[in-house]
Amino acid sequence: MQSLAYRNSELYFENQPIVGLAGEYGTPLYVYSMPAIEANFQRMQQAFSGHEHLICYAYKANSNPAILKRLAELGAGADVVSLGELKLALQAGVPPEKIVFAGVGKRDDEIEFAVRTGIRALNVESEMEMDVIAEIAQKMGVQARISLRLNPDIDIHGHPYITTGRESDKFGIRLQTARSLMQRIRSMPSLKLVGLHAHIGSQITELAPFVREGEMMRELAGEAQQLGHELEYIDVGGGLGIRYEAAITPAPDSRGEDDLAIEPAEIAQALLSSLAGLGLEVVFEPGRSLVANAGVLLTQVLYLKDAGARQFVVVDAGMTELIRPSLYQAYHAIVPATLRSGTGLCADVVGPICESGDFFARARDLPPVQRGDILAVLSAGAYGFSISSNYNARPRPAELLITSEGVQVVREREAIEAIWS
Ligand SMILES: *Cc1c(COP(=O)(O)O)cnc(C)c1O
Repeated sequence: MQSLAYRNSELYFENQPIVGLAGEYGTPLYVYSMPAIEANFQRMQQAFSGHEHLICYAYKANSNPAILKRLAELGAGADVVSLGELKLALQAGVPPEKIVFAGVGKRDDEIEFAVRTGIRALNVESEMEMDVIAEIAQKMGVQARISLRLNPDIDIHGHPYITTGRESDKFGIRLQTARSLMQRIRSMPSLKLVGLHAHIGSQITELAPFVREGEMMRELAGEAQQLGHELEYIDVGGGLGIRYEAAITPAPDSRGEDDLAIEPAEIAQALLSSLAGLGLEVVFEPGRSLVANAGVLLTQVLYLKDAGARQFVVVDAGMTELIRPSLYQAYHAIVPATLRSGTGLCADVVGPICESGDFFARARDLPPVQRGDILAVLSAGAYGFSISSNYNARPRPAELLITSEGVQVVREREAIEAIWS
């Protein structure tokens, strides 16, 4: 996380002291850096700059409206997976022709709204869904713009819950089926096949899967064109990973590292070397790689607990605020806002939720900590707040955004009364 630095022994995020933010706004607290998000976005734009392209931000990673609005201003499109996200994109000022709609379970009302809005495409995930879209569009007397989401059966070697492009995953259409659908669509006047889509998984840290994906997409796009489909673009999905372990070392005057797992320009080059010859626009759908390293979750140490075989550091945030460790055994670096002298400890960092699966770290070597200290859970900008919940009747945390103008509260801490309203 390049926007983090210790000055002497105090942790700063951009130019803001972490201890000060936690003191003023309370914990648990999400803090995001807009300059970091902007830098990530420009890096992606730059990577694809030699070719007609569109970066569609994957909203599910972090859909705070202030972030969405700024990304829309910078020219980002939107990759949405529900009616709610589609409406968020329109609210943020994203033009319909820059919105793509994915997901295996779109309801009829969601399809109808998307078709009426005239978005870039609904990404079809099954034959039955395609038929439903055709029927809805026909009843409305319009043509629905669709793309086929291909399941290329590529293994990204990631956690099974974030691997989406193997044949055993629920996403996408097998290539054989896609080929027969491309034939069928030709005689379906209420459908227009405008693109092909694939998204092979998340937190991808090697280049090879993107290379294979590019080759597969080129082959299928060529076949679609031969069948007479006037494709407009190829949507290669997102999935670029970050190096969670490379956030920052808790030591005086240390600085955060550049932590994208693969240089975006290398991914662009790998894909474009296959796709450039098709003469089609390329759509890239990054989520995590735009926002993960631009956010931290701040939490306060409540108790230290010696359970004999294990030590516990009990903090005031838990799986309700950040579920990734519980859900995917994900690693998040955890560092103190203030470095103390003394000896550290090896402990589980756990939250207050009544679940044994409620932990941020297990058997983690930590610098010395005391009751009342502020800890920063790092690289928490993606799939953090957006998967938060009210479990155990806990109100959702506040969200702060650091911009060039200063600190803005971009979501108030949820009032406890909201839980029973
Ligand atoms: C989740 C998702 C993305 C973004 O994935 P990241 O790993 O966050 O980049 C892109 N496209 C689709 C269809 C998705 O479901």
